[in-house]
Amino acid sequence: MLPKGTASELCCPRFMFWAKSHFNLLKIAGNDIVICAKSKKPVCVYEAFYKIIHEAHIAVAHGGRETTYSEIICSILLASSILR
Ligand SMILES: [Zn+2]
Repeated sequence: MLPKGTASELCCPRFMFWAKSHFNLLKIAGNDIVICAKSKKPVCVYEAFYKIIHEAHIAVAHGGRETTYSEIICSILLASSILR
């Protein structure tokens, strides 16, 4: 998701129209967060998956899949309660 007025040669116009009509950018503490235009809930972009999973894995001291998954769910719940 690119800020308004930013040109991209990577996407076709039809995809850009779809993205603009379904998502918005919200600036929180200086960071651009992609949110769903309809529900206003934050969206985890594909490129951020590794970073989020890695941070959760480190936060649970290299715990297993279920521990890491629980940590991710806790941070999502915390983030959504902050955004309300
Ligand atoms: Zn590990």
